[in-house]
Amino acid sequence: MNLPVEAVLRPRDLGEALSMLAEDPSAVPVAGGTDLVVQLRARRRHAPVLVDIGALGLDRIAVEGNALVIGAAATMDSIARSAAVREHAPALATAAGQVGAWPIQCRATLGGNLANASPAADTAPPLLTAGATVTAAFPSGQRRIPVLDLFEGPGTTRLAPGELITSVSIPLDPVPAGARRVDRFVKLGPRREQIISVVSLAVRAALLADGTLADVRIAVGAAAPTPVRAPAAESVLEGRPPGGAARREAARALQEDIAPIDDIRAPARYRRLAAAVLLDRLLGEISHG
Ligand SMILES: Cc1cc2nc3c(=O)[nH]c(=O)nc-3n(C[C@H](O)[C@H](O)[C@H](O)COP(=O)(O)OP(=O)(O)OC[C@H]3O[C@@H](n4cnc5c(N)ncnc54)[C@H](O)[C@@H]3O)c2cc1C
Repeated sequence: MNLPVEAVLRPRDLGEALSMLAEDPSAVPVAGGTDLVVQLRARRRHAPVLVDIGALGLDRIAVEGNALVIGAAATMDSIARSAAVREHAPALATAAGQVGAWPIQCRATLGGNLANASPAADTAPPLLTAGATVTAAFPSGQRRIPVLDLFEGPGTTRLAPGELITSVSIPLDPVPAGARRVDRFVKLGPRREQIISVVSLAVRAALLADGTLADVRIAVGAAAPTPVRAPAAESVLEGRPPGGAARREAARALQEDIAPIDDIRAPARYRRLAAAVLLDRLLGEISHG
């Protein structure tokens, strides 16, 4: 493969993996390798020792108590096809099914998507709207980090060196009686497959029996240094129906929530417009059932 790598270590359990990472500060975890191998090949990353976390049993997807728990090594393909994810976090299932094309989805993992910390990581917006937390393990214990607090900036997280994401938990919040949960994701790119999002957007809310929205959560990817929640747009929509005036006002308010930059994929002005269009499109779909 001609990679600048001296050794690939294959721990048999989580404890062994954490020890290997703790003992050698130059060691880096690798899951599907779909980001890391590209970075190593392009010499954008230096990682002489890789610790393969693919055989640690971190790929389970299950409802545990009042949370949907997805192992960090679960692939996009398994997430997109999981009945539990489709039921409790359909926006995440949609996002996972749009990461690259199918061969990428069979290797790319949820933990890798989050740890790589691209502002355009497609699983981030639906996890932000779902109020998800990651569990991160280190040799002497583990801690939980809200996904919102995980990202520090483009390509950087608040994980300590050697810390491993082991799972992602999505709380199973009940919706009020008579209400229906809406949970959607949409992304925009120059073509349908194999694209990094120019902008992505997730909306999660309860659609009440009277047609108004409650507990509105909106998150946007690729429109700021990290994936962000959109409090201005959320507050416009709270307690109102998703169509009509609220729909237009929310798309305008969204501009306060984002801070896109010009880059090779799109200028900031295009991203602003695209984010408004995506929100308008999702609200239209929600208001028409
Ligand atoms: C052709 C192509 C198309 C793509 N399209 C998309 C797309 O549409 N949307 C999108 O969001 N991404 C896309 N990607 C990026 C990539 O596939 C995803 O980010 C993927 O989810 C990364 O997961 P991985 O398991 O391959 O991570 P790896 O490459 O193995 O690792 C990525 C980073 O995360 C770290 N890491 C991995 N697992 C853990 C863990 N459990 N705990 C701590 N650190 C960890 C690694 O050390 C590394 O720094 C694409 C990539 C390619 C090559």
